[in-house]
Amino acid sequence: MNELPRHLDSLCALENASIASYAIHSDRLKGRHYPEKQHPFRTEFQRDRDRILHSHAFRRLEYKTQVFLSGSGDHLRNRLTHTIEVAGIARTLARALALNEDLTEAIALAHDLGHSPFGHSGERALHKLTKDFGGFDHNEQALRIVDLLESKYPAYDGLNLTWELRTGLLKHRSQIHPATLDGVELPPAPSLEAQTADLADDLTYYGHDVDDGLSSGIITREMLSHIQLWQIAGEESKSLGLKEDDERFETYTVRALINMMVGDAINNSARLIQESGVTSADEVQLKGLHLVSWSQRFQNLTNELRTFLYENLYFSKELSKLNTLSEERMSFLFDCFLHHPQLMGPDYVKRIEKDGAHRVITDYIAGMTDNYAVCEYLRLK
Ligand code: MG
Repeated sequence: MNELPRHLDSLCALENASIASYAIHSDRLKGRHYPEKQHPFRTEFQRDRDRILHSHAFRRLEYKTQVFLSGSGDHLRNRLTHTIEVAGIARTLARALALNEDLTEAIALAHDLGHSPFGHSGERALHKLTKDFGGFDHNEQALRIVDLLESKYPAYDGLNLTWELRTGLLKHRSQIHPATLDGVELPPAPSLEAQTADLADDLTYYGHDVDDGLSSGIITREMLSHIQLWQIAGEESKSLGLKEDDERFETYTVRALINMMVGDAINNSARLIQESGVTSADEVQLKGLHLVSWSQRFQNLTNELRTFLYENLYFSKELSKLNTLSEERMSFLFDCFLHHPQLMGPDYVKRIEKDGAHRVITDYIAGMTDNYAVCEYLRLK
């Protein structure tokens, strides 16, 4: 292993030595839609990850809403910083569970590529506008982006990512939608790498939405004081001598909160994996095993926190006003492009005959950043 440089075969040997039999191995792939030559210095999932990082859609995440509209505050998360945090936590989980870190990270980096401007209110608005034409779902849109809408290769549309990455985008722990990909029926459970990226997403946003909710002043420490997870995390801060009115109490407690959720997810998933006795990635998926999760106790605790965030942050009156405005802007833009498709430019107009106006307008609007959508709204209004 001391020979340099490390070529693909030695990188794969290192990977095989460090991950478990139930992980997805990058030298045993189902492959890419368009066959490609192997890269001398990168495994297939490293290539997937790099393609996502270098995509236009990835860079647009910087100007898309996580919870707060892009530009609302220098320290508030946007889709890009959320995604980077998810990827970091997903890697920690994957490494501790002996899963394929590169694949887990790549799924995490791509998981929110399909978000429209204005976060979930934008998604709801687009879905309402297109429900008779297939509707809108950000997971499916992420797949459309990597399969069709990114264009940089001479011979085909999309990024030609691996089957393992693409199915990882579609399938979440609890639901499968849609049930087929390229006409192939998907197994009842996603890979453990996809399950890990999915849990990392929930865990990350619970943590940082508490943080951003507090920073914005929409939620307060008093409001959180009834939430058990916050109380337990707060005990850790107090054990280090922090008082509740100390400046660092909130930030340290958020840190403790995330650390607790990560620790429980790792310990519980490791136990479930060992008890299941699985020996291959196919077995996990074909048997429909959901093995990456919190313990029942933590599931209950995180449910309580999630309900709190829905009631007090996502549907707070401060954010609801903005969300209503965002939905109105989305409707206006949609209507405008429906009546004047030439406003989208010739490349999009060309696609209307084949894909239908609703599909093309959805792709066009979903790709917009918050900033671009607001500018277009103001310009066209
Ligand atoms: Mg997310």
